Amino acid sequence: MSSDGVEHVIIIGSGPAGWTAAIYTGRANLRPLVLEGEFESTVRQPGGQLMLTSDVENFPGFPKGVTGPEMMALFREQAERFGTRVESAWVTKVDFRSRPLRVWAGERELRSRTVIISTGSSAKWLGLKSEEALFGRGVSACATCDGAFFKNKEVAVVGGGDSAMEEALFLTRFASKVTVIHRRDELRASKIMQKRARENKKISFIWDTTVVDVMDPTKNRVTGLKLKNLRTDRVSDLRTDGLFMAIGHDPNTTIFRGHVDLDEKGYIRTHDGTRTNVPGVFAAGDVQDHVYKQAITAAGSGCMAAIDAERWLESEEARSLYRE
Ligand code: NAP
Repeated sequence: MSSDGVEHVIIIGSGPAGWTAAIYTGRANLRPLVLEGEFESTVRQPGGQLMLTSDVENFPGFPKGVTGPEMMALFREQAERFGTRVESAWVTKVDFRSRPLRVWAGERELRSRTVIISTGSSAKWLGLKSEEALFGRGVSACATCDGAFFKNKEVAVVGGGDSAMEEALFLTRFASKVTVIHRRDELRASKIMQKRARENKKISFIWDTTVVDVMDPTKNRVTGLKLKNLRTDRVSDLRTDGLFMAIGHDPNTTIFRGHVDLDEKGYIRTHDGTRTNVPGVFAAGDVQDHVYKQAITAAGSGCMAAIDAERWLESEEARSLYRE
């Protein structure tokens, strides 16, 4: 914070993009403030999606792999080493029309010359009433968190991407049988993940199929699924004890709607690196990337946002806005 009580940089979000932005702005002596969120549930907590990941095998520098939570703890430690301050709060509101920019952390109003948005994205759901009713009672979006409850039980995973393969493979450590249900007859997952899943004897696939209902909310637990074959429209039942959703993510941009430009899917539009349409507001990581969505690319764009923010603070534009 500078002497007038206005922050140089507020970073919203504490995944790889946010912590990397903090490391870089910290080393540039900008004393960044990270608003990391608060623990609410396994799917809504500081650290973002990596908190729900088992082994990260593809982040360079970790040849033996590292767990998502361990990696986030290391990122945070490194950011704090360079003077990052961390506040555990969700941002409830922003106002980017005024200068300094205004950000509300819970009820508290904060002011800053620059803001880096790195709020990531969250798991998507099918939107079924029964899915919602049985969330935490057999329906989950996190095998790492809930897999151990399914020892010697049968589970189903919905999705055909890397997350679905990862969840299915992880679940084979506990479950006696894992059924992957995919809406097409071709997987989207990378070849290596497909191969591992296809070669695992506990995993079987149901193709061209979607889940239309989760049984049985009246029993307060998952007992089975109603499935619909999308080619034939045939409806069938599958007995299962658990349902894991792995159908992708939506960007966490609700509070920014109307304040920065979003694309048709709700991702923040960036140009010239990580700039948004609002001078002094930058976006990094999954909140602005629906293509790569990797920890390493999020970290890379967090670094870019920090450099962009630092250069912007030095620019004529910032000087004239803040009359320095
Ligand atoms: P994704 O690649 O977007 O895959 C989502 C899957 O869910 C797709 O197969 C999609 O079907 C299906 N789907 C979407 N909406 C659906 C709906 N309403 N009903 C039924 N199925 C639906 O998402 P992801 O698997 O979460 O992966 C996201 C990114 O993270 C990717 O870049 C991935 O490579 C990366 N990732 C990497 C690893 C790893 O390397 N270990 C692990 C996890 C994630 P369609 O195929 O028909 O569209």
